[in-house]
Amino acid sequence: MRVGIIGGGAAGLMCAAAVFEADPSVDIFLLERNEGLGKKVIISGGGRCNVTTGIQDVKMLLTKYPRGSKFLTTAMYAFPPEAVYEWFESHGVPLKNEPDNRVFPISDDGHDVVRAFEELFAMTRVQIMLGSNVTSVAKEGDEFLIYRKDTVEPLKVDKLVLTTGGQAYRHTGSTGDGYAFALALGQTITPLAPSLNAFFTKEKWTAKVSGIAFENATITAKLATEKEFTGPFLFTHKGVSGPAVFALSSLVAFKQYNAESPLPITIDLYPDDSIDELTGKIDVLRAVHGHKQFSNVLAMLVPKSLSEVVIHELGLSETKPANEFSKKDVSRCAGWLKAIPLNVVQRGAGDEFVTAGGVQLLEVDPTTMESKVCPGLYFAGEILDVDGFTGGFNLQASWATGYLAGTSLST
Ligand SMILES: Cc1cc2nc3c(=O)[nH]c(=O)nc-3n(C[C@H](O)[C@H](O)[C@H](O)COP(=O)(O)OP(=O)(O)OC[C@H]3O[C@@H](n4cnc5c(N)ncnc54)[C@H](O)[C@@H]3O)c2cc1C
Repeated sequence: MRVGIIGGGAAGLMCAAAVFEADPSVDIFLLERNEGLGKKVIISGGGRCNVTTGIQDVKMLLTKYPRGSKFLTTAMYAFPPEAVYEWFESHGVPLKNEPDNRVFPISDDGHDVVRAFEELFAMTRVQIMLGSNVTSVAKEGDEFLIYRKDTVEPLKVDKLVLTTGGQAYRHTGSTGDGYAFALALGQTITPLAPSLNAFFTKEKWTAKVSGIAFENATITAKLATEKEFTGPFLFTHKGVSGPAVFALSSLVAFKQYNAESPLPITIDLYPDDSIDELTGKIDVLRAVHGHKQFSNVLAMLVPKSLSEVVIHELGLSETKPANEFSKKDVSRCAGWLKAIPLNVVQRGAGDEFVTAGGVQLLEVDPTTMESKVCPGLYFAGEILDVDGFTGGFNLQASWATGYLAGTSLST
């Protein structure tokens, strides 16, 4: 049997490995347009590659996918984070589970993840066809034809796996070509949207507090049904960022917003305290440092630049001593810190981590990853209408679907 896999990213690499490990006699052709494998894997997690998650409970794991969680069930049970962990360790990549449940190579180097596949393939019949820019695909009878730039003769295979990824970070080679290939073979592509991105806000004051980070903040989007997420958070020059913002961006991936019609959000920097508790904390400081300027007293609780923003945004006196502030004004400050109002006007363009939407899941068998409309055609990874939050969930989905496609097509 001849198997063609288009796309040498996470899903394609794991799929090729799974085919080989299930049946070493299969002829595997892994076509990648870049001159190296796994370009996105290498840069993922800031170069450290957040390979998977430490969450072992599959039901809990599936809640981390705003789209595709039900579809992923079989793949995740077939190749859960625990098995991914063992797979990499047994292929020479020792891993570590950080306290926030993100799993990385001990070396903190994404190259090691890709190297594990390169070393495996070097000993196998897997043909790595680097620099192979696939331009189109077709099916003739039972055979798939893969056409490549600068090559007249198509590569003919019995089974075809599309692992071309989404269209985020296009310079890594993932330009969304696979959607056209899938369409040509009769699949439906759902609407596409960037996901896991920073937000740009109408309010310009975030520039004054740019770089200030909080370990735990709750971001809420004011929509018909309120959507909120709690996690690490960061102010930036143009708005807000960090895992909590990425997660919220994922929940509103298909929502339209712009300068004329912004998305209102609020940020609670003290999700564990009520307004009264926070007011109480400020009052304790006021009782001791009442003669100091209020902004300086507030700066004992939050960074000075943020305390100045609070006072400015609420139109309070910048010079009055803390003990001359009314209880009501102190409570307003606490209320502001617990529900900072911002208006999102734009996604951080081009810096999203994943593409939401893709190959329609109804047309793919979730127990094999084979197309229901084109027998012999398989999908894995981000090309599918599946995406997760940050924390290793997108790579986990790529490994799991790649593994399931690889094992099922070789049986
Ligand atoms: C900056 C960044 C950081 C990230 N960090 C993390 C992280 O730490 N943890 C996590 O879980 N997820 C992370 N993600 C998301 C994760 O990397 C992706 O979801 C995952 O790599 C998708 O894998 P894939 O195999 O489906 O696609 P890709 O990794 O995108 O691979 C697709 C491959 O197909 C090739 N290809 C495309 N079209 C063609 C063609 N026509 N011909 C030949 N080859 C083609 C591409 O060159 C590419 O190599 C990150 C994403 C980004 C952008």
